[in-house]
Amino acid sequence: MISGRGPEASSSPQGLRSAGTVGRVTERCDGCGFEWDAIDRAEVAPGVVRCTSAIAQRLRTVGASAAVRTEGLGWSALEYAAHVRDVLLNVRDRIIQTLIEDDPQYAMIWRDERVDRGLYAGDAVDEVADEVAIAGRLFARTFDRIDPDLLTRTGVYAFPEPRPRTVLWIAAQALHECEHHLADIDERIVGPR
Ligand SMILES: [Zn+2]
Repeated sequence: MISGRGPEASSSPQGLRSAGTVGRVTERCDGCGFEWDAIDRAEVAPGVVRCTSAIAQRLRTVGASAAVRTEGLGWSALEYAAHVRDVLLNVRDRIIQTLIEDDPQYAMIWRDERVDRGLYAGDAVDEVADEVAIAGRLFARTFDRIDPDLLTRTGVYAFPEPRPRTVLWIAAQALHECEHHLADIDERIVGPR
């Protein structure tokens, strides 16, 4: 993926590859292999909690060095953790909108702009560790309370290309963000975890 940018930066079709038989195309993240349609409802909440807890643990283990950017790798581990936090809060609200509105207009995440405008500057590692774990638990709790009949409601989601997506797909994308960026954070953290 592109250094210093979130996964939506790879929102072009090049960010995906297709697999499967003709007529049944499986969307798969080219960076981490995540397959949105392979995710079952029961996997989402535990997966989000597991990943965000792991991100928090990584930050606490390495401390202040999580805020240091590595040459050539763009965002620091801390910036990725803050991004995951904000994505989870944003997507949680998108899901709530989709449960209620018939043609939801989603608030943009503005992933790069948040960093470029200095909104993450000076974030404390321990605080972001707490926040990403809380965001994960909030997301999981809300998602687990959704009536199964509502998981097929749809909204047009911009990533990886504008297309109507179900609530379950959108939740799977939240899990994808967590998994994808846990790997980004691991790539940036050197030493014991
Ligand atoms: Zn991925």
